[in-house]
Amino acid sequence: MSEIVKKYCNSLTEYSRYKTREVKIGDVPLGGNNPIRIQSMTITDTMNTIATVEQTIRMVEAGCEYVRITAPSMNEARNLENIKIELRARGYTVPLIADIHFTPNAAELAARIVEKVRINPGNYVDKKKFEQFEYTDQEYLEELERIRERFTPLVKICKEYGTAMRIGTNHGSLSDRIMNRFGDTPLGMVESALEFVRICEDLNYHSIVLSMKASNPQVMVQAYRLLIQKMEEEGMNYPIHLGVTEAGGGEDGRIKSAVGIGALLEDGIGDTIRVSLTEDPEYEAPVAISLANRYKSRQNHKPIKIVLEIPIDPITYKRRETFEVMGIGGGNVPVVIADYSSKEISNQKDLADIGYKYDEPSDKWYLADAAADIIYLGKQNIKFELPENLKLIINYDAWQKLDSKKLRFPILTKDEYLKNKSLSDQINFLKLKLNELSDEISEKIRNDRRLVLVIETDNEHGMAEQRRFFFELINREIKNPVIIKRDYKNITLDEVRLYSSTDFGGLLIDGLGDGVWLSTETGKSETDKSSKLTFVKESNEKFINRTLFGILQATRARISKTEYIACPSCGRTLFDLQETTEMIRKRTEHLKGVKIAIMGCIVNGPGEMADADYGYVGSGVDKITLYRGKDIIKRSVPSSQAVDELIGLIKEDGNWSDSSENNIS
Ligand code: SF4
Repeated sequence: MSEIVKKYCNSLTEYSRYKTREVKIGDVPLGGNNPIRIQSMTITDTMNTIATVEQTIRMVEAGCEYVRITAPSMNEARNLENIKIELRARGYTVPLIADIHFTPNAAELAARIVEKVRINPGNYVDKKKFEQFEYTDQEYLEELERIRERFTPLVKICKEYGTAMRIGTNHGSLSDRIMNRFGDTPLGMVESALEFVRICEDLNYHSIVLSMKASNPQVMVQAYRLLIQKMEEEGMNYPIHLGVTEAGGGEDGRIKSAVGIGALLEDGIGDTIRVSLTEDPEYEAPVAISLANRYKSRQNHKPIKIVLEIPIDPITYKRRETFEVMGIGGGNVPVVIADYSSKEISNQKDLADIGYKYDEPSDKWYLADAAADIIYLGKQNIKFELPENLKLIINYDAWQKLDSKKLRFPILTKDEYLKNKSLSDQINFLKLKLNELSDEISEKIRNDRRLVLVIETDNEHGMAEQRRFFFELINREIKNPVIIKRDYKNITLDEVRLYSSTDFGGLLIDGLGDGVWLSTETGKSETDKSSKLTFVKESNEKFINRTLFGILQATRARISKTEYIACPSCGRTLFDLQETTEMIRKRTEHLKGVKIAIMGCIVNGPGEMADADYGYVGSGVDKITLYRGKDIIKRSVPSSQAVDELIGLIKEDGNWSDSSENNIS
């Protein structure tokens, strides 16, 4: 028997790549049986041939197999020829991709020069935004006809020159027509691309690659899944380009990218990856390579029992229904567990790493927004008075021997749980693996309203095994809250960050999980040499706590800090986006829940700010336009004043605070 999956991947329990057709892009084919390809985009001015060539070479040396270059007008499109000639002269044959928005003429010229063009179906023909909100069927058809007329010449040129094309939808820049008919939804994103694909197919052109990017990983994952469902229905099998757009930089950018891209790679989806970071593009490839490498031998994983009924809808978010046990599950945000089982906590200061600052003179605790909720101590105990909201988990044996059990709760193995009657009357934790979920234990768990499950896995295909565990719970109508636990051994901290983002994120975006617990024995505690992130000597606990809160933020399961939606910048950017983003971050990073977009250009930026509360958008040399939501508030603000003006706007709206710490006792 095979799994009944409304098809968006081969299997939810057995890893295999979803097979697409092969598309030739220069001499580096994509899709089919080819490996997952790595790519990125230059951020130099395309008119600066040498700077673009040199950046391209750095990207190739870092592992890029395709390089995309923006061509906002005919001049840049024309200069792609000089860039290509110079690269070939220097011995680099990397296929080039022209990035087009709004300018069909530039696309038609570029398609004669480079190996692939990327068009955005939301703005290839449609120039006006937010102008027409009502479409009759007749008007809709007339627009499609207009698109066909304007798009057909490009398709014919691509056919003639053997040029491939990516039809790349962005969640933030859907046309008015699509917004009217389908809304700002994954279905709208998919239809936006398929309108163009159908025209290509009518013209018998199939060298197509598709992408469905969004800055919200949840929307992005749903859109890619739906794309595959729709392709299956229409008998299409085009290769898939994965990316989370406007992910930002640093740790948050990596976490967001790994959540979205990783969740899809886990299900075998994706033929090429671009990780977009607000950093120099040569730093993107190592992240993408690290994500892709994880699947090289994945098909040898231990078998996971197939599931005949998939109890969740992969296209619509719905949190798994649970009852609440002492603030875990129910309507509560997922909790974060800090693992101190192999490290002693001797005084109050030790808790600063996980968000608890102790002020000795006043004997008060100050709690950060990203403070862990529970500490796992193994066999140990903490001798001092705890902040009142903090719980401790202690191994059952040691817990039984405690004199005072206040705020201390046991964690049990399956055998301990089945044998023992003497448990906490408030909350107990049970560690379980999928193969331990027997009928006997299911029955006992289901009726135990004080029990929280901690699910573990040692399967290489661990996210799928833990997801299978959730399916089993849903199918058996077990509603206990679940904490997802993962252990990583002998990998770098950069890998821990990316892999945990994938493994936790892949579950959280489907509404699975009421808590997260990560432990790592870092044999290698340094970061990768290829990473831009500078290694700051800090404890594992601090790193893990920050990573877990970052994952919860990226999946929007729990908001504990400011959200930045920053474009990666490109040849259109007229200011130093990395420096500006950093400057804005430094002054606003304590504004929990506020979303700030920092976009390089006024042409695409406003459309792609997604659901940001505020926008800081480059609109000319030394000129910034400030937005509140989608509304322009101030135009042409000199850069030197723009950050202050942005903060003024946030203050005006009552969204400003001076500190992110709360006094709790
Ligand atoms: S929003 Fe940023 S990446 Fe996109 S076109 Fe403008 S400057 Fe380039």
